Amino acid sequence: MRLSILGAGETGAGTAILALQKGYDVFVSDAGPIADKYKQMLQSHGIKWEEGGHTKSLILQADEIVKSPGIPPTAPIVVQATERGIPILSEIEFASRYTDAQMICITGSNGKTTTTKLIHHILTRAGYDASLAGNVGRSMALQVAEGHHDWYVLELSSFQLENMYQFRANIAIVLNITPDHLDRYDYRIEAYAEAKMRIKQNQTPSDSFIYWRDDDYVPAMLQENPTLASTLCFADTSGNQAAAYVADGIMTIERPRAFTMPVSELSLRGKHNVRNCMAAALAALEAGVSHEALRSALSDFPPVPHRLEPAGEVDGVTYINDSKATNVDACFYALDAMTTPVVLILGGLDKGNDYAQIIPLIKEKCRALVFLGADNSKLHEVFDTLGLLTFDTHSMTDCISACRGVARQGDTVLLSPCCASFDLFNGMAERGNLFKETIKSFTI
Ligand code: ADP
Repeated sequence: MRLSILGAGETGAGTAILALQKGYDVFVSDAGPIADKYKQMLQSHGIKWEEGGHTKSLILQADEIVKSPGIPPTAPIVVQATERGIPILSEIEFASRYTDAQMICITGSNGKTTTTKLIHHILTRAGYDASLAGNVGRSMALQVAEGHHDWYVLELSSFQLENMYQFRANIAIVLNITPDHLDRYDYRIEAYAEAKMRIKQNQTPSDSFIYWRDDDYVPAMLQENPTLASTLCFADTSGNQAAAYVADGIMTIERPRAFTMPVSELSLRGKHNVRNCMAAALAALEAGVSHEALRSALSDFPPVPHRLEPAGEVDGVTYINDSKATNVDACFYALDAMTTPVVLILGGLDKGNDYAQIIPLIKEKCRALVFLGADNSKLHEVFDTLGLLTFDTHSMTDCISACRGVARQGDTVLLSPCCASFDLFNGMAERGNLFKETIKSFTI
């Protein structure tokens, strides 16, 4: 059997090694440069590869192709392979053929990484042999090649799900569906939602499907196209079939086993994170985790970097890094979680944002707004009429100086910028790290 692999990053290199181990004749092709780390991996296994372009004749000889999720289905080489009827798989689809591990799979527009890592944390606390993969952690294919795990906790994007066919999730979670990546789906939210709902294909009555009851799309799609799996939903309020909900500040789970825990004892903050905790708890209970392990893991799960991450305290002011909030929805939930007056840092590359959703919370909670971007003119246009103090900055140092100048003891400075970071930084992680480092420099 011949396998061509498109894209030689974490998933492509891992797939190549697993495929070689399973007796495939493997060829790896990347349209761009391949990172040294992955070149060495391929070379040390004697795997054939090319970079800087695709040699069609070699790639299209394959019986199957594994494609990196970053390559769109409209890429010419993918279109040609599809026309020839060559099956195109995702790394997860391929790797799952070679393991009988139980699969817990998480998808959604927001909250995937947090919930995936939280479930892994709970399972590990309960003593399970569980490994992280998908969009987080190491390549699943490589881990399957290296040895056995009883459980995988997989973060799945709609891009990965597009190329999954036989894969079966024992426990599937759809956190929410809101417009995202629509450029890849001809601006049709239905197409994006359908890709996400592929997570339930092949599920059997012994599996579970966990979803948010109040989502705009998932319950309706489920009604139209029911799953064989048993369904469990979580919600902010009881009733309407909710298996998990919040009542009087208590996270309450009725099914599959009764469990309660005060929201104040959860380590994660914010309404959105309570939903993520309910989804994770339902999955953990389905997986058979004990109440003790669940309670202890929910209470000490460390914040995921750049998602409402505490970044230190200077002069009685708390600093919070939510650099991952690159859309207005994420900033809404961050502001909602704040319990003190806020100095909010906004700005960066605006993807056509409509800020109307956060204006009431800004009026209610913010002392001042500090704009951090190459071009802050739209922010001035939208927010200068609110009567709040606003500051115009173009570097992290100037931004933090402005925050320090205006914040009072007991306030929170929140970096939750609603925008991508590429105007001034190399990604949201660099922006968040610089925020943390700058604050640290004041505390030393
Ligand atoms: P993803 O992996 O889906 O991008 P993350 O866990 O990295 O999700 O969180 C991304 C952003 O979305 C964070 O800024 C966070 O505050 C926000 N967020 C997290 N969970 C939810 C949720 N359940 N609903 C809405 N927003 C959320």
